[in-house]
Amino acid sequence: MIPESFKQDLLNRTDIVDVVSRYVQLKKAGANFLGLCPFHNEKTPSFTVSPAKQFYHCFGCGAHGNAIGFMMAHAGLGYVDAVKELASSAGMQMPEFQPRSPEEAARRERETDLYALMERAMEFYRAELKKAPRAIDYLKGRGLTGEIAARFRIGYAPNDWQALRAAFPEYEDKALVECGLVIQGEEGKRYDRFRDRVMFPILSARGAVIGFGGRVLGEGEPKYLNSPETPLFEKGREVYGLVQARDAIRAAGRVLVVEGYMDVVALAQFGVGYAVATLGTATTPVHVSKLLRLADELVFCFDGDAAGRKAAWRALEVSLPLALDNKPVSFLFLPEGDDPDSYVRSHGGDALERLIREAQTLSGFLLAELRAQSDLATPEGRSRFLTAAKPHVQRIAAPGLRLQVVKQVAEMARVSQEEAERLMELRSAPTYARPAPQRASAPLPLSLEWKLLARAFARPELVLEIDPSLLSPELPESQALLELMELLKGAGDTARLSDSVLAELIDKAAHGAMLSRAQAVLNFELRLGEDEAVSEFREFVGALRRREPEADRTLRQRVLKGVATPDERRRFEEKMLGSLRNRP
Ligand SMILES: [Zn+2]
Repeated sequence: MIPESFKQDLLNRTDIVDVVSRYVQLKKAGANFLGLCPFHNEKTPSFTVSPAKQFYHCFGCGAHGNAIGFMMAHAGLGYVDAVKELASSAGMQMPEFQPRSPEEAARRERETDLYALMERAMEFYRAELKKAPRAIDYLKGRGLTGEIAARFRIGYAPNDWQALRAAFPEYEDKALVECGLVIQGEEGKRYDRFRDRVMFPILSARGAVIGFGGRVLGEGEPKYLNSPETPLFEKGREVYGLVQARDAIRAAGRVLVVEGYMDVVALAQFGVGYAVATLGTATTPVHVSKLLRLADELVFCFDGDAAGRKAAWRALEVSLPLALDNKPVSFLFLPEGDDPDSYVRSHGGDALERLIREAQTLSGFLLAELRAQSDLATPEGRSRFLTAAKPHVQRIAAPGLRLQVVKQVAEMARVSQEEAERLMELRSAPTYARPAPQRASAPLPLSLEWKLLARAFARPELVLEIDPSLLSPELPESQALLELMELLKGAGDTARLSDSVLAELIDKAAHGAMLSRAQAVLNFELRLGEDEAVSEFREFVGALRRREPEADRTLRQRVLKGVATPDERRRFEEKMLGSLRNRP
């Protein structure tokens, strides 16, 4: 848990305009800044950043949040890492964690211990590399310089069953087993997992050592060995080389995904710095969405053999729902017998980049594979083709890409687009990986409840002046108001809630989209001063009290239309008499 006071302090010392401008080109527009939204594809800027209120809002896709939220969404960081990153650029020392329970405390301490152990092991392996001419020769033979080896913190695990004892006098500590460095054999005998291997440390997004990959030096098996899954290391979530590649990914706007750590290092050596590797697992959705957040273009690189094509197909299936219209995914198949490491060493970085630019598109790869399975010259083959295409086309979430693929499928199967859509049951809207853009650009509600909601953000504790029983319960804006009331009751001191803290608070809310929009409308469209907004709010609270209750309105309409029951008519008359009597 990061203490609330620290977060407030951090948000006070961070300028969101600075943070966002590291990634998005912003132009001043009145009191605010405008730019092209990094979260959806657009030609005219609707991404607005308020320096006064310290939050951003996209009028195109509804993206909304403060500086912490921006780092999470844009850099693909977790909450704690986003706070750490901002704290370090603000020159603030992270507070000590305040664990919630003794178990939590124990777990955290354990984790800290494990990170420290991994770091110590890495330093040990690096020192060992200097004493190992065989390993140095191997790296030199692969064309690697000392500079690249240092940048990737490459080391060497000696050919010794208990080499780590030199770095860890407490070799019996069970933490060494827990973080995967040491194996507990039968009869309690312990030995190092990695022996006679060139060691590639695997780093987390913030640069901590979480695992190792080891490449055998001699003829031993397996050729590549990774750390097992540990409390620090979850293979399906991590990629190798991200920390070293981050700047190059940003500069190129592209990320290349390869299969091995040696590929990543060799590519960096030959000037292709934006490569990362999956870690002995098939591509996962976490990989794809993490990388698409960092780059505009994702290129998978596979060997041209059968195994490579199979792995590529798996990556394609994972990418279908995640590819975005403005962030294409493509596939590069190397000539048979080559891997990225060997290719770049014999042909150079420029030749590889040429291949990258010509990589097969996701749709091209999909359609080529499907076509290969069916004979498009016969009606049977064409209908088989349509059937095979159906589940894949259904999973494409990017609307533009989906439309293009449907058109091509239709043409190949010799049917019309409408027929193809019907046969593949594409009428229902696809599930979007992100909120659909039209959500935020839909017309604003006109209700009194919406007017209250938009003005409430001038001084949030105002909402507590509303009598919830007067709200029309069926309106989404009423539900949003009610949720805001609950959030504020749980937030403690409401006077301390700045707009940027609110932006984060509502981001997680069930009615987050509605609430974000209200906050944005007040600040960017209504542009009311706080006092104006507060007095308008109070006028609308009055109007709400004067408003005829929903039940009464229905009753009156039924009587006027002549469809009321005798009982309803009697109730209506009583009400009318009552209101006449109450008149001054
Ligand atoms: Zn947007």
